[in-house]
Amino acid sequence: NADIAMYRVKEEGKNNFQFFTSEMNDLISRKSKIAMSIRKGLELGEFSVYYQPQIDIETERIIGVEALVRWNHAKLGPISPTEFIPIAEENGMILHIGEFVLRTACQQTKAWQDAGVEPFRVAVNISAKQFSQGNISEVITSALEDAQLAPEFLELELTESLIQGATSAITKMQELKAMGIHLSIDDFGTGYSSLSYLKLFPIDSLKIDQYFTRNINKDAKDAALVDTIIQMARNLGLNVIAEGVETLDQLVYLKNKHCNQAQGYYFQKPLLPERIEELYSKV
Ligand code: C2E
Ligand code: MG
Ligand code: MG
Ligand code: MG
Repeated sequence: NADIAMYRVKEEGKNNFQFFTSEMNDLISRKSKIAMSIRKGLELGEFSVYYQPQIDIETERIIGVEALVRWNHAKLGPISPTEFIPIAEENGMILHIGEFVLRTACQQTKAWQDAGVEPFRVAVNISAKQFSQGNISEVITSALEDAQLAPEFLELELTESLIQGATSAITKMQELKAMGIHLSIDDFGTGYSSLSYLKLFPIDSLKIDQYFTRNINKDAKDAALVDTIIQMARNLGLNVIAEGVETLDQLVYLKNKHCNQAQGYYFQKPLLPERIEELYSKV
């Protein structure tokens, strides 16, 4: 790993690397610390999964939850997934984190069902690297079987990046779809893919990126983009879910535009599984 090598060189020959500022050094050492402690963190149980409700706008009922990984590092404290997921993608540890989240989410969703919570889907984020690995279908099948969770309760959130140029991605998606698993496109509108994939790929939902949602009542151009995404999704027969809904104004706007689902702090933050059980028990 180049970062670690650079760091060692710096430690060994201090005077040769005067351009190496202490800020750069801190950054690199934090990054390599994170990279090197993922495996141990998984073994020690430092990773956990939180769940954020997804709401049907018309009925305001829960239709699913998104599983979001959390890491409380023994020395560094809580680390955001926006920081460690890209590092894990670089060094391949994403496969282990991904499998941990998938297994935990499937088991938790089955446990809620057994505890009398109204049944809903769990959406798991799958990174492009994880998806392009040969055995993603087997990993998923095994997680579902071990948890005894029916495939229709699992949704995979994929990003546009996985779509680029990958014809094998279509075959995998069709395979998963045939099992009854739901597929959605996360952060829709922030990638650079051509729209033609929407016709080719067997997806169920589009998730409007929170960047667009944030500005719908403030910026006419963002609002126009959101309107267009909702309309396009409806015309294609897809569900559309707005991410990052924080205010009533945003919700009202989305409802008027016939967006069918929403997720965000206005409803709930990502929560511990016990809290989900308290909130959504049938009795
Ligand atoms: P994402 O999949 O787009 O997830 C949505 C992010 O928005 C989450 O951040 C969530 O906590 C946050 N969020 C939800 N509602 C609101 C809101 O109303 N306002 C604001 N400001 N934020 C809101 P989080 O949990 O920090 O995750 C960040 C990203 O890290 C995720 O974006 C996803 O790309 C990645 N990630 C998280 N967990 C996993 C995982 O298990 N596997 C993979 N591959 N990636 C993950
Ligand atoms: Mg997501
Ligand atoms: Mg997203
Ligand atoms: Mg995002």
